[in-house]
Amino acid sequence: MKKKKLIIAGAVILIVAVIAGFCVKPVKQFFADRKAAQKTGFYMDTVVTADITGENCGETADAVFNAIQVLEEFCLSKTAEGSDIYELNEKGKYEVTDSTLGILEKSLEVCKKSGGALDIGIGKLVDLWNVKNRQTPPSQEETNALRGSRYEGISVEANDVTLKDGVKIDLGAVGKGAACDSARDICALSGVKRAVISVGGSILLYGDGEFTVGIASPETGSADYIAVLTTGAGFVSTSGTYERFFDYEGKRYHHILDPETGYPVDNGLCSVTVVSDSGILSDALSTSCFVLGLEDGMKLCEEYGCQAVFITDDGKIYTTDGIRDSLEISDDSFSFAD
Ligand code: AMP
Ligand code: MG
Repeated sequence: MKKKKLIIAGAVILIVAVIAGFCVKPVKQFFADRKAAQKTGFYMDTVVTADITGENCGETADAVFNAIQVLEEFCLSKTAEGSDIYELNEKGKYEVTDSTLGILEKSLEVCKKSGGALDIGIGKLVDLWNVKNRQTPPSQEETNALRGSRYEGISVEANDVTLKDGVKIDLGAVGKGAACDSARDICALSGVKRAVISVGGSILLYGDGEFTVGIASPETGSADYIAVLTTGAGFVSTSGTYERFFDYEGKRYHHILDPETGYPVDNGLCSVTVVSDSGILSDALSTSCFVLGLEDGMKLCEEYGCQAVFITDDGKIYTTDGIRDSLEISDDSFSFAD
């Protein structure tokens, strides 16, 4: 009898041990997968959020925020004394760091390819409009006086950058996308599983599987989504009139300027979203396409092999062919154009 009890107890212990053996790994995996970090900050004059899962997610979020801060303060900021762009704008000639050089070169490439729709040399015009703080538009004389200051006045030789008289650089159209590129490099190094990092209108989607991204309402901004885009890892940037503007005598003056006219773009578009495998490119193209308008903007995206969503003032949505089926409209005041 005693022997029988012992055998039963032994069998129970064995079964429990086997079940435990099977369970420990999945349980460990479960907790590893559940490791998640959320962080919010304010850099590059905009809200930055990180949502990261996997091992080292907290440290990765900290590293991403540090990298964005460094990129802003040492490289791209127009207002932080000592940054490459601040010193270059002040002195007219400056030896910039490799990080700034890479961003300048890619931006200048898009300036050329877009026929000057993107123009990183219009810093003075951007300052004149100062859309964030102004309540009335500047005079035509004031905008005309700055029309000659364009990106062609920027020359690059190795790390030495020289500006023609009157040219000042503004990287507001590309900096947030460039920050997302830095974020991706950090995620790849740290080995996190999945990350969504948002820097103003630019987003990094990192990891396996699909992500959903809301397209902000062009009327009210990011709080309401008018459509949802399902996509894989990559970068998504949106340029919209709602981001920065003032209204004067019944007309909206927003922050995306047409370098040809010296005035905010007025071509019937209210938002352009570009999907790319490069952060700086998605950001540069969203601004370029907004300035170029529907037809030429579509062509530029196709040239770069990027996907895009264009929204017009009258609620029509146009997409490149490769993205149409991935976009679901969630607000019935908007509809596909065809
Ligand atoms: P985004 O929100 O990426 O479209 O960038 C808009 C910002 O880029 C503005 O706030 C300005 O700082 C700057 N900007 C405005 N118009 C242009 C333009 N045509 N080319 C380059 N930068 C521009
Ligand atoms: Mg942009």
